[in-house]
Amino acid sequence: MTLIFQISCSPKPTFRIIDKPITWNAEREALSLQYLKDRHSLYQKEASISPQMVVVHWTAIDNIEVTFDVFNPPTLGGRADLTSASNLNVSSQFLIDRDGTIFRLLPDTTFARHVIGLNYLAIGIENIGGSDDPLTKNQLQANEELIRYLARKYPIEYVIGHHEYQKFQNTPLWKEADPDYRTIKTDPGDKFMEKLRKNLSDLGLKPMPTP
Ligand SMILES: [Zn+2]
Repeated sequence: MTLIFQISCSPKPTFRIIDKPITWNAEREALSLQYLKDRHSLYQKEASISPQMVVVHWTAIDNIEVTFDVFNPPTLGGRADLTSASNLNVSSQFLIDRDGTIFRLLPDTTFARHVIGLNYLAIGIENIGGSDDPLTKNQLQANEELIRYLARKYPIEYVIGHHEYQKFQNTPLWKEADPDYRTIKTDPGDKFMEKLRKNLSDLGLKPMPTP
């Protein structure tokens, strides 16, 4: 009886982040500094960000290892819609698997290319899933815990879905040199963001800008 009692009263798994770094080398750093300059008009000595926003994504790839291999190389291959703007590969600071396991691909404040106009202030969280694989309850909980952790460390004011990024075009936060460089995004969708924002309502995040 004692054993059963102890098991049933054992605490929930501890919040944890597993470091699984993608390649950060001189080439990626140089391309990131170039992106900051060319796209965001920011002249920096280090490819770092001052986080004020979290952007939630889904990968549209159903496998974590394949996703890692996509983000890992410093340069972009084959995506003509993106290579004209920069040859820096896309990535994000965090990647969450279907079971809610959180991987950190880059340090929180290292520059990552994941959202047009806002990379310089936004931490990206990618989630394994897509329109055919809706994000799971475990992912919802992991996003919530990760964002709470980030909000304790940085002055996070906005938590947005990637599909909402263009709402910031007419705000002072928007920094993209080319008015025609936009991609249409649907990830991760209103349903997931509604649930996530409801769970985070006590953080006092700012509402989406109005057009
Ligand atoms: Zn996205």
